[in-house]
Amino acid sequence: MNNAKKLEILGDSARYDRCNYINSSVESFLRGKIPGVYNASTSNGCKVPLLKVLMTNKCSNDCRYCINHNKHRFNRVEFSPEELASLFIDYYQNRYVEGLFLSSGIPNDAENSMENMVEVISKLRLDYGYKGYIHLKILPGSSYDLIKRAVSLADRVSINIEAATPEGLSELSSTKKYDTDILRRINWIKRLTKRDKTLAPSGQTTQFIVGATDETDQQILDRVNWLYKKMDIKRSYFSTFEPMKDTPLEFHEEPSSKRSPRLYQADYLLNSYGFNLDELVFDENDNLKLDADPKYYSALSHKEIFPVEINEAPYEELLRVPGIGKISAARIIRNRKLGNCFKKLEDLKNIGVITSRAEPFIKLDNKYQSTLEF
Ligand code: SF4
Repeated sequence: MNNAKKLEILGDSARYDRCNYINSSVESFLRGKIPGVYNASTSNGCKVPLLKVLMTNKCSNDCRYCINHNKHRFNRVEFSPEELASLFIDYYQNRYVEGLFLSSGIPNDAENSMENMVEVISKLRLDYGYKGYIHLKILPGSSYDLIKRAVSLADRVSINIEAATPEGLSELSSTKKYDTDILRRINWIKRLTKRDKTLAPSGQTTQFIVGATDETDQQILDRVNWLYKKMDIKRSYFSTFEPMKDTPLEFHEEPSSKRSPRLYQADYLLNSYGFNLDELVFDENDNLKLDADPKYYSALSHKEIFPVEINEAPYEELLRVPGIGKISAARIIRNRKLGNCFKKLEDLKNIGVITSRAEPFIKLDNKYQSTLEF
């Protein structure tokens, strides 16, 4: 099989791995145009085309949601390290892509597969002199030495945690071990990158599969919070479970399409806004409510801090007001330092506050802005 055909298959297989914010409509696969090229969104909203590809779809693992699971009889293909490295360089030199996202199935043992992936990026860095972006997946069960080499070559590394608990992972796969194959490797990466900031300078991320087990949002966010606090994870991604034909979970119920976006919003509050887990509100099933965003529900359940006086509240309190984000909170503080007082909603609107959301939760110059009950 030629490389173009392989890329069509292995590029398509890579689309379930998230390497940017939110969902596959944002991380668009340029299907039919340039095989394997996806637009990833950066944190500042820019679109960056990446070659996103698996080394191989051969796999001896039995992940029940995955099309590549070991019992599926279909066409399996693989790239050699040299084939993939030269194909990437060709794409890069032709300006089809600005970076690489490399993952792989695990045909035999993780060590062999990881070695092949490290060889690809080693060729790119050392033989081809490539200095651009590389995101490398770390395979569960890889050795410390290979992980050490991987973080010395890649900008970002990630190992998919998949589930919030060992029990959750065991529902998804009998071949991956939560504590040893995954958490231990996450901890190794943390130690390596903490010791030497030049290793994987864009840090370590991870990904959850949402809705393939009965794990609740509270369990997922509890794990996410732990990963941020104890493992120095930079980002968590939430991949909504999609039942796929020819997989053991083919007839499993599909989760609500609103669930992952709500998890991203809650994750943002934890990771970026400094919220504590106990500030989030869950329903009677320990899931986030889907009809409004988690910040709104958090505000409703913490009436003791509202309404917030915009002309006096510290930055952390401003961030807890629905409709006020990090940029508008910083602008409020800056304006106050300049001696400006906010007197009417229009003043807030002018600096980017969504006043229709903020109104019931604030006072301006000691005056309530809304008669709405919140
Ligand atoms: S390890 Fe699991 S998720 Fe990854 S390719 Fe193999 S079966 Fe799929």
